[in-house]
Amino acid sequence: MKKIYLIISAYNEEENIPVLLDSLEKNLQSKNIANYEMVFVNDGSSDQTLAELLKAQKVRQNIIIVNQSKNFGHEIAMTAGLNYVAEENKSGENDFAVIFMDADLQHPPEIAAEMIQLWEQGKKLILTQRTDNEDKGLRYKILGNTYYWILNTLSDVKIPRNMPDFRLLDKKYVLWINSLNETDRMFRGMLSLVGLQDAHIINFAAPKRNAGTTKYNFWNLYKLAIDSVIQFSVKPLRIATFIGVLGCIFSILFLAYSIYNSWIHHEPRTGYLTLLSAVIFFCSLIIFFLGIIGEYIGRIHIEVKNRPLYFNEIIKNEEK
Ligand code: UDP
Ligand code: MG
Repeated sequence: MKKIYLIISAYNEEENIPVLLDSLEKNLQSKNIANYEMVFVNDGSSDQTLAELLKAQKVRQNIIIVNQSKNFGHEIAMTAGLNYVAEENKSGENDFAVIFMDADLQHPPEIAAEMIQLWEQGKKLILTQRTDNEDKGLRYKILGNTYYWILNTLSDVKIPRNMPDFRLLDKKYVLWINSLNETDRMFRGMLSLVGLQDAHIINFAAPKRNAGTTKYNFWNLYKLAIDSVIQFSVKPLRIATFIGVLGCIFSILFLAYSIYNSWIHHEPRTGYLTLLSAVIFFCSLIIFFLGIIGEYIGRIHIEVKNRPLYFNEIIKNEEK
């Protein structure tokens, strides 16, 4: 039996839930897709999201609510949804696929329907690429491009640009991804680790968010950026050592040059300002590199504790 799981993470999306459900059902029905289940991960919402989901569950057989005990963040929410699906299918008998979606309708349900059709035709990994994002202004786009450039230069895995978390993974990929049990989750990077060779890519323009506001602020994005570099590479450490070595060589040359100047040419030594700026420059460099090392050590610290990633309860339809 073949089944599709739509994993939808929602954090304060009360107004979007009914609209999304409507649109999903309409689109899937029009393509004669019936055997699907919607796994809503309520990521500790403080509004009526859970109430909306419970209401929807009462009149439908195919809604599962994964209710996180608090807000753990989008990546963890997706992991929780994925773990639920993996647990449900642990017998390994059934064929299934999962689709990750946002709850704010920026991931169009008609594309989800298209993905399912492609999966039925045999595609195992379907990714999407945003040709445009109507929600984001120019500033964000410039920042985003810079971010991906730095990321792909520094990181060992290649993370494609403008590829949102909207994607379909066949059973095989679900099992692979689930075998990676790092605490810091970054789906984009984890997929690249697994390999993207067979990926089929769909282009779409992301519309504006249906209602509510974006949950990603500057600090979320900063964390995501640092995570994606540190988690998949030790290159920053290597660059730090390299610059250290370069600095050493440079200072020895500079020393030799000043000794030569003062002995041979008897030039009086001034230049406190040069000295001061050199000291400040190298001190900040040291602090920066200590910061890099700290980021890695911090991650080891968290990883070693090996805590569960989240706490939640699964709410199923009682009549089932
Ligand atoms: N989300 C979540 N937990 C969070 C933040 C966001 O589950 O801590 C969900 C959110 O409800 C939405 C999706 O992740 O369905 C994407 O978030 P958002 O639309 O705010 O991000 P953007 O599209 O602006 O990048
Ligand atoms: Mg959004």
